Amino acid sequence: MILPAITPRFAALGEPYSTAIPARPLPAPSLLHVNAALADQLGLSPSIASPEFIALMAGNTAWPGYESRASVYAGHQFGQFVPQLGDGRALLIAEIDDRNGQPQEVQLKGAGPTPYSRHADGRAVLRSSIREYLCSEAMHGLGIPTTRALALVGSPQPVRRETVETAAVVCRVAPSFLRFGHFEFWYYRGETERLKPLADLLIDQHFPEFTGKPDRHALWLTEVVRRTAVLMAHWQAVGFCHGVMNTDNFSALGLTIDYGPFGFLDAFDSHHICNHSDDSGRYAWDRQPVIGHWNATKLLQACLPLLADEPKAAVERAQPIADSYPDAYGKAMLKQWTAKLGLREVRDGDETLINGWLNLMQSSRADFTRSWRHLSRVKANEDGPAHGLRDEILDLVALDAWIPDYRSRLRAEQSEDAERAVRMNAVNPKYVLRNHLAQRSIERAEAGDLSEVATLFELLQRPFDEQPAFEAYAAEPPPEARMIEVSCSS
Ligand code: AMP
Ligand code: MG
Repeated sequence: MILPAITPRFAALGEPYSTAIPARPLPAPSLLHVNAALADQLGLSPSIASPEFIALMAGNTAWPGYESRASVYAGHQFGQFVPQLGDGRALLIAEIDDRNGQPQEVQLKGAGPTPYSRHADGRAVLRSSIREYLCSEAMHGLGIPTTRALALVGSPQPVRRETVETAAVVCRVAPSFLRFGHFEFWYYRGETERLKPLADLLIDQHFPEFTGKPDRHALWLTEVVRRTAVLMAHWQAVGFCHGVMNTDNFSALGLTIDYGPFGFLDAFDSHHICNHSDDSGRYAWDRQPVIGHWNATKLLQACLPLLADEPKAAVERAQPIADSYPDAYGKAMLKQWTAKLGLREVRDGDETLINGWLNLMQSSRADFTRSWRHLSRVKANEDGPAHGLRDEILDLVALDAWIPDYRSRLRAEQSEDAERAVRMNAVNPKYVLRNHLAQRSIERAEAGDLSEVATLFELLQRPFDEQPAFEAYAAEPPPEARMIEVSCSS
């Protein structure tokens, strides 16, 4: 097996940013799925069929030339600062360049305990590993910035959660796994001199346009805040709920990271809470944009020492960066909603039109994904029912009141039905990883049948395409599946 060469970057920072520790081997590992396209991008294709590759993905052997490492971070969890977290079950196993010359970090999740495991077992169960594996690639298919998934390995090793389950490892890939919490750790510990090497590493690798500039830290922070705002607009637009938006689960590159109790909206309720453990609804769907802002201010606070030596001056530089979030989010969200409505440009009054549509979906508890998708069938110049839409929206009186406004807005920009439908279908997905679909694939996988994992993986690569053989995967959940609860247990 010939693997891409190592280029240690984060590892070169050494301790105390991370600790070298080998993965703990798993018995009888089997490769449950491999992401061939990502393997190809990483230059791994010739190796993926070999037994050595399975051993590598299970953590049973090390990547030649690299000592696997766990990093330390902190984080605000549900609003409370936790001074020490870290990679409790994740291990960086390689740092390489992909075929485009882009730096990539390769990480195993569930590869055994680390110094940051805090009495937990360092393992991940098959159930949560399938969810992360499928969802991160589904998000990628939707065009949303995210960590990627390269391989899913299972093992008969028992893992105790509410019940006894079996272990699995997800190999995930990202240009950097640095989180907001990595910066918070050093700030709150008072070792603020440790911030600069971390920020400069990130800037040199991923923001080369800022390298060497005296104001590079402000430029990077401005960009992370913007990316975070844009990411939140992406999530809202597809009805994605992250579930655990703690600052340790927020990426310094603006990627979606750490898929736990996430969910996609089925019946639309803007207050939907996808995480059964989130009693107060801190991370409800409609709160995600505000939380994104709150998290960004926590990152800025942790990075104050990078902005100026004198605290007052640092705050003065951080404030406008923090204040740039609402505008960046507002613009990104408006762009998303108008594109989803098939509008080519934003005009006065569009917000009212959008809110009218969201209210309509809310009052009917209409299926979020299906309703948006059916909207492309509305005809700008024809009255009468838009095929399919009237089956989604129960409140027909409200629908019939809103549709004329929508049609007249379409006519105002001489919208052409067929052309608009193509544009709308490229932004309103037909298929998302609904909980009941993930659940069915998990139940089959637990019984030894991986075919449903493979089917969902394929399907969700092309979420905007009509795939007639898979029509049933676009249906709303059956009544018995609406009760599926997902918690932090993973
Ligand atoms: P999460 O809520 O999944 O983002 O995890 C919060 C923290 O707990 C992170 O530092 C994780 O590394 C750690 N953690 C979660 N589950 C485990 C586990 N089974 N073993 C070790 N650490 C864990
Ligand atoms: Mg996490």
